[in-house]
Amino acid sequence: MSTHSPGPWEATHWRSYSHEHRGRYTHVPAQWLVVTTDSSLVLRAENEADARLAAASIDLLAACEAARDRLDCREMPVCDDDLEPAPHDEWCTDCKAREQLDAAVAKARGTA
Ligand SMILES: [Zn+2]
Repeated sequence: MSTHSPGPWEATHWRSYSHEHRGRYTHVPAQWLVVTTDSSLVLRAENEADARLAAASIDLLAACEAARDRLDCREMPVCDDDLEPAPHDEWCTDCKAREQLDAAVAKARGTA
């Protein structure tokens, strides 16, 4: 598995332009790009919102990994003699959040 381009990434907008070479005209439409700090292209995006989300993804991945590593299950069941306790996985918000973080990190890392 390859590793992603080094961060940080930046969303940048290129204006449309036309140029002529040996009598042939080329028009390059405006586009949103995600680039590294040394201006290497990471990807082309369909629109500004996609470009900004993609540029933030490298920071979001680091934040997810940090949060996942610090998130401990602290939920305690509420005792109610009249009710059968539900399985822990069904009500624990800490464990559900950790599952979401694990799934997002695995999707980003290609280990899902
Ligand atoms: Zn839990």
